[in-house]
Amino acid sequence: MAKMLVVGAGTMGRGIAHVAALSGFDVAVGDKKGVDTAPAVAAIRGEMDKGVQKGKLDAALRDAAVARLRASADFCADAAAADVVIEAVFEDLDLKKKIFTHLEEHVRPDALLGTNTSSLPISAIAGVCRHPGRVIGTHFFNPVHIMALLELVRAEQTTDETLARALDLAKTLGKTPIVVRDVPGFATSRLGVCLGLEAIRMLEQGVASAADIDTALELGYRHPMGPLKLTDLVGLDVRLAIADHLHRELRGDQYRAPELMRKMVAEGKLGKKSGEGFYRWVDGNAVAK
Ligand code: NAD
Repeated sequence: MAKMLVVGAGTMGRGIAHVAALSGFDVAVGDKKGVDTAPAVAAIRGEMDKGVQKGKLDAALRDAAVARLRASADFCADAAAADVVIEAVFEDLDLKKKIFTHLEEHVRPDALLGTNTSSLPISAIAGVCRHPGRVIGTHFFNPVHIMALLELVRAEQTTDETLARALDLAKTLGKTPIVVRDVPGFATSRLGVCLGLEAIRMLEQGVASAADIDTALELGYRHPMGPLKLTDLVGLDVRLAIADHLHRELRGDQYRAPELMRKMVAEGKLGKKSGEGFYRWVDGNAVAK
């Protein structure tokens, strides 16, 4: 059975592990040394349980997937057995480079290495590796078990074979891939963050309430979720890091993070994961403030 190691047991790492286990991978979930990832594995199971309760997931499939999932106490130790490694740590280039430097010492030369960055240069991450050709950007979307897209970002060094393997991986995980060149923000974040930041500026200027700005795009343009609710779901801290990176790299004023966003991050109002952002989050549901 193919083995996957997921590094980073946060929102995205959990989601990726969830889908990989349901798709037949043996999955180990690791995080920083000293962080117990057993609660993350329990949370993935909880998410699958919800699927069973709603009649969207077969209980036997859930049980088989749960049996394939485990916490990794030391991801470097589990790297040697992995066919695929997906990194999903914080959006910080130095951190991602450090993780890949460590991983390289342990992974097999034929392992596929994916980074789940939303905006950072894949070529710079691949650049710290001795075998950079097997590194590719694997940008999943939140919540991973629901969102169909997998944005594959081809670094300068990514080989044709690696791209072909990543396209196969997308198929195995039931995702629809798109292939994008390694430019800041790729296709998705470059457009999506722009919309999110403008919505925050509109809220700052008192154009309308958060709920009404979201409804404008949900009903007026058929977006499944408004830009402010989406920012709450992604995490204001995550989006702020992406915006700052895009502003540094692409320069346009459209990527300048609004003061309101910085203030909310400083106050710990990070969105769904902290219980409050542009909405209050009660039992997983957004409530207008
Ligand atoms: P998160 O804050 O929920 O989780 C990050 C995890 O990385 C944490 O569990 C943290 O302990 C772990 N980590 C930090 N340092 C580490 C280290 N040295 N070794 C191992 N693990 C370490 O963040 P997230 O929202 O899951 O985002 C992870 C990545 O996915 C980021 O690059 C982000 O841009 C990208 N992304 C996020 C979303 C989203 O909606 N949140 C969507 C697509 C892509």
